Amino acid sequence: MNDSHSPRDILRDVFGYSAFRGEQEQIVSHVAGGGDALVLMPTGGGKSLCYQVPAIARHRAQRGVAVVVSPLIALMHDQVGALEEAGVHAAFLNSTLSFEETQHVEREMMSGRLVLLYAAPERITTPRFLAQLDSLQERGLLSLFAIDEAHCVSQWGHDFREEYLALNVLHERYPGVPRVALTATADDLTRADIIERLQLEDAKVFISSFDRPNIRYSIIEKKEARSQLLRFIQDEHEGDAGVVYCQSRKKVEETADWLVSEGIKALPYHAGLSADVRKRHQDRFLREEGLVMVATIAFGMGIDKPDVRFVAHLDLPKNIESYYQETGRAGRDGMPADAWMVYGLADVVNQRRMIDESPAGDDFKRGQIGKLDALLALAEAHDCRRVRLLGYFGENSQPCGNCDNCLNPPQTWDASEAARKVLSGVYRFHQRGGQRFGAGHLIDVLRGKASDKVQQYKHETLSTFGIGADLSEVQWRGVLRQLIALGHLRTEGEYNTLELTPSSRDVLRSEVQLLLRDNPKTPGRTKASRPGAKPKAPPVALDVQGLERFTALKAWRGEVAREHNLPAYVVFHDATLAEMARSHPRRLDELAQISGVGSKKLEAYGPEILRVLGHALS
Ligand code: ADP
Ligand code: ZN
Repeated sequence: MNDSHSPRDILRDVFGYSAFRGEQEQIVSHVAGGGDALVLMPTGGGKSLCYQVPAIARHRAQRGVAVVVSPLIALMHDQVGALEEAGVHAAFLNSTLSFEETQHVEREMMSGRLVLLYAAPERITTPRFLAQLDSLQERGLLSLFAIDEAHCVSQWGHDFREEYLALNVLHERYPGVPRVALTATADDLTRADIIERLQLEDAKVFISSFDRPNIRYSIIEKKEARSQLLRFIQDEHEGDAGVVYCQSRKKVEETADWLVSEGIKALPYHAGLSADVRKRHQDRFLREEGLVMVATIAFGMGIDKPDVRFVAHLDLPKNIESYYQETGRAGRDGMPADAWMVYGLADVVNQRRMIDESPAGDDFKRGQIGKLDALLALAEAHDCRRVRLLGYFGENSQPCGNCDNCLNPPQTWDASEAARKVLSGVYRFHQRGGQRFGAGHLIDVLRGKASDKVQQYKHETLSTFGIGADLSEVQWRGVLRQLIALGHLRTEGEYNTLELTPSSRDVLRSEVQLLLRDNPKTPGRTKASRPGAKPKAPPVALDVQGLERFTALKAWRGEVAREHNLPAYVVFHDATLAEMARSHPRRLDELAQISGVGSKKLEAYGPEILRVLGHALS
């Protein structure tokens, strides 16, 4: 292996990539040069290279080990495997290792041979480990600290980990060793918290755009959620890996069972399953191709599988931050991916009720309601989803051309009058003896339906009875949903009875015009309009021979991955195999040109690959 220290040489030689992405180069130079950094980059942005390249550069210059703090024990094995595949000596220390294995890793670390060591924060702050770091430090063998998932130090997020708080010891004890903290959580509060708690006041802050241009956002009206999901998977993602998020464990189980009964390879994942089953399902998701994980939000943090082709939400996430984070697990490899969600009136009502009924204080609840409102406005939007999403995080952008609203601009209709009918309907109930009713009954009254309840309360005598016969029940539900989403109406209590809000009056007085999304016929993409979405399609267009080569390469990769007990993408990404199949290299130097082929992999696999491609080396 060549011994160059320059970041670009390392990028090319070790990882086989021809150029840094976005801010990677500035970050890498800054950290390799000994500076502290806080890196805010979206999922899939390429954070790993921001500490791996400096670690390699510093190791080549002066030996020494970079310590990577990560809370994700389950992923360390594969992260280390990927580095070793690329010829970088790396290891991890965690509770899954035997005594002998631990000793071996410690010897490698203390000798200064190891380039990167991954460990969980609770391990790093033990007296024993700190004593080892002291010894490394005395001999000048501590090259770098990388603190991954740095938002875990903040109590604002739901990933807070107590053990992260103790990590400021690294700065206090080893002030001369550069530190880089990395996270995909963008908000100001979390950022300030990370800086303060990790004592990164002097660190240079690198903020990347949080846009994920390869993700296509769609939010559609919930009708038959399951069959909508099935159609989405069958039409657009057959044979693809994906995640389906549901709110409850029960719904996770039912949805997974149902998908399986429909012939889709799916597994459930939620906190109610034993640790054993969870691990097994996660491993299968990472290692097998085309598996659909149906999960609660217990699943996903740090899942760095690059080829997740879709994330589907059958229930509303809690807020825009969660929506962004959960959908962000799609398409880390930069290839086209879908973020797809269905939602309806019941979701809006349930989410509001969950906040109402939580034991939290009023201030906190107000905050939660504000966040939910922002999410609902995103869901009801008739303009570009991405502009709104990025706008929420303080980024300005132009309509993207890659969301449902850009691709199929929804019809809008002036629903001001329909909205007034709804609100006066609620108002009349209140007038009539202060009674409260839910959506179903109101719609019956508006549509002039003489239901039992209507007769019981003599509601056929209300002036609002029958004034809305022109719209169907589904249309009325849409109006109600949007009114609630926009805050002009709310529901209360166990029976979700309807209540007016301060802004109801403005609508009633015609002071606001309400343009609502029409319930479009979900035009969507037909199978024919997206030929790229065929089963197991390669990421680049291939002719028949190319496809054969791609299939052969994948089969070969599967064997290697099994032999090494690693996920297939650690050996080579799909995109790399597809490029091999397309450009059909005949010699090693041609193969070396392909993105993702570093010098170690070329040496280890080059001849085999050429043989698979039908050109055995003589
Ligand atoms: P993050 O941790 O920010 O979510 P990763 O570090 O896992 O992202 O990188 C996402 C994917 O992008 C990985 O598959 C990685 O190999 C690839 N990648 C990162 N940087 C580059 C680059 N400069 N050129 C090509 N591919 C890259
Ligand atoms: Zn758009």
